[in-house]
Amino acid sequence: MGNDDSTSKGRATKALQGRAKAGKICGLAAKGKVKKMAKKAKGAAYLCERCGYVSADQGDLCRPLEL
Ligand SMILES: [Zn+2]
Repeated sequence: MGNDDSTSKGRATKALQGRAKAGKICGLAAKGKVKKMAKKAKGAAYLCERCGYVSADQGDLCRPLEL
């Protein structure tokens, strides 16, 4: 009964590759979409603890920190 480990590992890897919903501000910055970032930063309530970006929606940040 040691086969369950490899199965769950494979699922985890697949989940990590699913970066389709890359609407994160942090991701936009890397792509140079600064204008979109600026729009999001308007009325920001959250700050990304890791990248230093701001957004009104905590879902846009990889490590949201309430301002
Ligand atoms: Zn971030």
